[in-house]
Amino acid sequence: MALNVIMMGPPGAGKGTQAERFAAVHGLPKISTGDILREAVQGGTELGRAAKGIMDAGGLVSDDIIIGVVRERLQRPDVDGGFVLDGFPRTVAQAVALDEIVSPRDLIVLDIVVPDEELVRRLGMRRVCGRCGAISAGGVTASEPAMCERCGGALVVRSDDSEEVVRQRLSVYGRDT
Ligand code: AMP
Repeated sequence: MALNVIMMGPPGAGKGTQAERFAAVHGLPKISTGDILREAVQGGTELGRAAKGIMDAGGLVSDDIIIGVVRERLQRPDVDGGFVLDGFPRTVAQAVALDEIVSPRDLIVLDIVVPDEELVRRLGMRRVCGRCGAISAGGVTASEPAMCERCGGALVVRSDDSEEVVRQRLSVYGRDT
């Protein structure tokens, strides 16, 4: 039976990390809309240009755009045995669209609950690899350059992990997701 999993949770809850582990254990593709958008920003594509300012401000990319991205991704044959979705859906319109895209398949929803102050603390420490995108729990200071445990790339702070933008993302999560 195909495992079609949605990993829900606020920014910093660990949904990306858990989605990756779950996908690896079950041999499923992990589909992260945040990763797809960050790659598009790095690649300077039309999607990336549309998303960059919104992501930097902690807002949500428009439903039309992101639903189109997910619809296209879920048509590829590698999802026939199931998938783990990370970061989608984030609005009611996205949830309705997803229902229609995957119908008649069932969905399993995992919701990770973490208090806001803990999320702010975690995201303040989070570092990501500038080369492969791996997440590091952090604890790294500016005077202490560190390398990615997976590929040796330099660790950087995600541009939307500043405290101000994190609080905006949490507020958007509470309101829209
Ligand atoms: P994430 O890596 O899941 O925290 O996503 C990073 C950013 O990408 C979010 O703050 C949004 O700006 C954008 N994003 C990711 N997924 C979605 C989505 N499903 N709908 C709208 N915007 C999204």
